[in-house]
Amino acid sequence: MDDNVKHYCGLFGIYGHRDAARLAYLGLYSLQHRGEEAAGIVTYDGKTMHTHKAMGLVSEAFNETTLRQLPGRIAVGHTRYSTTGSSTLKNSQPLVVTYAKGSIAVAHNGNLINAFELRQQLEANGSIFQTTVDSEIILHLLARATNKHFEDDLVECLKLLKGAFSLLFVTEGSLIGCRDPNGFRPLCIGRLNKTYVLASETCALDIIGAKFIREVEPGEAVIIGPGGLRSLHPFKDQPQKLSHCMFEHVYFARPDSIVFGQSVQEVRMKLGRQLAREYPVEADLVMPIPDSGNFAALGYSLESKIPFTLGMTRNHYVGRTFIQPAQEIRDLKVRVKFNPVRALIKDKRLVIVDDSIVRGTTTRARVKSLREAGAKEIHLRVSCPPTKHSCFYGIDFPTKKELIANTMTLEEIRKFIGVDTLGYVSLEGMLQAIGKPGDYCTACWSGVYPIPFGEEGDKFALERQAKHAGQGCG
Ligand code: 5GP
Ligand code: MG
Repeated sequence: MDDNVKHYCGLFGIYGHRDAARLAYLGLYSLQHRGEEAAGIVTYDGKTMHTHKAMGLVSEAFNETTLRQLPGRIAVGHTRYSTTGSSTLKNSQPLVVTYAKGSIAVAHNGNLINAFELRQQLEANGSIFQTTVDSEIILHLLARATNKHFEDDLVECLKLLKGAFSLLFVTEGSLIGCRDPNGFRPLCIGRLNKTYVLASETCALDIIGAKFIREVEPGEAVIIGPGGLRSLHPFKDQPQKLSHCMFEHVYFARPDSIVFGQSVQEVRMKLGRQLAREYPVEADLVMPIPDSGNFAALGYSLESKIPFTLGMTRNHYVGRTFIQPAQEIRDLKVRVKFNPVRALIKDKRLVIVDDSIVRGTTTRARVKSLREAGAKEIHLRVSCPPTKHSCFYGIDFPTKKELIANTMTLEEIRKFIGVDTLGYVSLEGMLQAIGKPGDYCTACWSGVYPIPFGEEGDKFALERQAKHAGQGCG
């Protein structure tokens, strides 16, 4: 297993619609933030699976012609994120195979922590892998299972997986959605008249006018076929411990989505309010670093009664095709995306709010540009605790040594970023703000990993993955 160990992705599936591919395209379009490197859709037309995958944004990966080549009433789509050269088309999803029991497509969001062991075992038994993504393991496990019914194969296979997985499958006649028993990654169910939809976030239901029914439960597999929706519980014999990814609420999900039973926007506002209670300061204005800090800044402003402003303008059109100028322009990379609104911030004492600090480098550059625009004081407030630990469940953080909060003290970070004061929301405060504190994974802040790495095999897998963290399809 090499570099592609992380899956930081958006999923969309649809069953029973004559425009399945086109609706999947729209769904993926609204899940673009979950993965910008590659997009793919697989449809089933009653006889054959049809696939189109391409690198780039959803709008670049598909056009009228490619969508017309995806007939069928069942579709599964995937948007993929990856950070390095490992993002080849071959590794993009959905993956499709044909085996003894027919054709099957899979799309995966999450990260299997026992991928290395499973792959080694499969290869020792003769499996030949086409990609370096751990999702392919799931297909091999399914192909090797020898039960009479596919559903028993599915249950057998799911029970072998460890880690974070929200999965979609299209078989010859059904759409299947599964979530790992911890419920790390989201997955929701929607209806559009008689059509069923499964998606990573509810914003993908909204875009096609589908109604949000409920989330796929942690540890549940829903099978959607001609007879409607049925539910399996492959993990019912295991003790269940929920560990939803808190970072979905902090940063990753769209604010207009409902994730893990709560509005993302509301959670972000609560975190902002909590920050204001924990780290009050005398200031003239509160402003977000757009867009990730928007709702936390609004919450901070409402709680502190310090007026809210938008002191930075973001250029939303900066894409991969941006042409670099021939001559080096100092700090161009920062300024092309964000520009301070000078008239608003000159001579002002500012509270700036952002969702998280990872490496600290972009935050430092933003602060510098605010200083140059004449800000008198800058107080940085961060709506999650210091990010100190790698994620093995699907968030694509860099390795531990690149996380600024892992290598520097708070005072060192404050100096490095160049702010007058710095405050991160406390872990307790964050959990109190979200409610149901026991249901969340906080590993990237607390170092407490909800799936124990007790056994030898797991420990090695963890080390290997630590080495690869930040490289793969997150
Ligand atoms: P830093 O100052 O650490 O270089 O960057 C912090 C910024 O990165 C914050 O605005 C935060 O919203 C953003 N961020 C946090 N996590 C991620 C991530 O996983 N991917 C990307 N592209 N940005 C992130
Ligand atoms: Mg940001």
